[in-house]
Amino acid sequence: MLKFGGITYQRSTVKRLVRYYRVLAIETSCDDACVTLLDRFSKTEAPTVIDERKVTLDSTSAGGVVPTDAANHNRKNISVLVNKMIVENKWNTPGTKPDVICATRGPGMVGSLAGGYQLALGLSVAWQIPLVGVNHMLGHLLVVRMKTNGMEPKYPFLSLLVSGGHTMCVLSESLTEHEILVDTVDIAAGDALDKCGRELGISGNMIGKETEAFINQFKDELEKPVDIMVKEPMLNQWDRKDILQYSFASFNSQVKNTLKKFYNSEIPNDDIIKARLLYNFQKVIFQHMISKIKLAIKQHDLKVENFVCSGGVSSNFYLRKMLEEQLEPAGIKKFYFPEPKLCTDNATMIGWAGIELFESGYATELGTTVVRKWPITQLFELEGWKKELID
Ligand code: AMP
Ligand code: ZN
Repeated sequence: MLKFGGITYQRSTVKRLVRYYRVLAIETSCDDACVTLLDRFSKTEAPTVIDERKVTLDSTSAGGVVPTDAANHNRKNISVLVNKMIVENKWNTPGTKPDVICATRGPGMVGSLAGGYQLALGLSVAWQIPLVGVNHMLGHLLVVRMKTNGMEPKYPFLSLLVSGGHTMCVLSESLTEHEILVDTVDIAAGDALDKCGRELGISGNMIGKETEAFINQFKDELEKPVDIMVKEPMLNQWDRKDILQYSFASFNSQVKNTLKKFYNSEIPNDDIIKARLLYNFQKVIFQHMISKIKLAIKQHDLKVENFVCSGGVSSNFYLRKMLEEQLEPAGIKKFYFPEPKLCTDNATMIGWAGIELFESGYATELGTTVVRKWPITQLFELEGWKKELID
């Protein structure tokens, strides 16, 4: 039996005869209002995704995410989306409502997070069901384990979490033990890709993705030479050696300097030249990530065989290829990448991480609030956890 807040959940003894529990998952840490309904039919098979949707703020004209706009967007959309999905999937009839709610509690933009988390608290009170306040980065980290019902990758595994807001290399020893081996001292890689793409004339709501699509039109042309000035940051110099840190802030000015030196400070008209420039900037950004992972493996003398790459940028084909080519010789035997829709922010990953936590006995108190900063290394140092009986 599984007990939380005085409620006993029935464990499925006969497969598919008795449902284990249903999960409503909510993610609103940035500019997406995301909801997923997961059916945890049994503990021995992966949960079924009944429905997953997201409503994204269009920031094309603003040239980036404006926090107050994102907060308003999430607050306006999340209750409508939850209601729609609950009604359309008939989870609103007696005996069909969710049994557990998982919602992102941090890290992220406080105004954005609050939209989803407050709704989750409210529903938890109204339905008298447990709430799990999930760490957003844990969601990215664990989502690849969902389709094997937590069987793979086994711990320990190494991860590159690379998104619009974060870039870090993490060593995970268990659900609750994570060590950040490399972190960024300034902006995230996704942010740098977006800035470089914008500087070179790419537009849209997700510039990194648009850049990849643009480059792909000129696949056979990319390796040919082009006038460019770009180099990896944080390389060894006379006064510093083997630094385990990322830095992506310089790439924007490296693009500007390239345009100034070779292209009269203008975006080249020739799309092939443009594609080669974008390709090369992207490649060096990826190389910076991988160089530091190799260094971390060497410095820590890691014997880890499983590698996860997750977060919005991880859907990039070129990045995946470079990781496989360069990390295999460093001892990595198996690579795990989420399917593209689970790379960017989504509520499914929050639902799955919440399930892993819940089944390890964790839930979150009422009266808790969202947090802007919540390092994955301090998952349980945040107040408001309650650990209850799981047999
Ligand atoms: P996230 O913060 O996890 O939602 O991811 C968003 C970030 O991922 C943005 O910076 C996007 O530009 C970037 N991104 C999404 N798809 C791709 C892609 N295929 N290649 C490179 N970057 C991408
Ligand atoms: Zn994210």
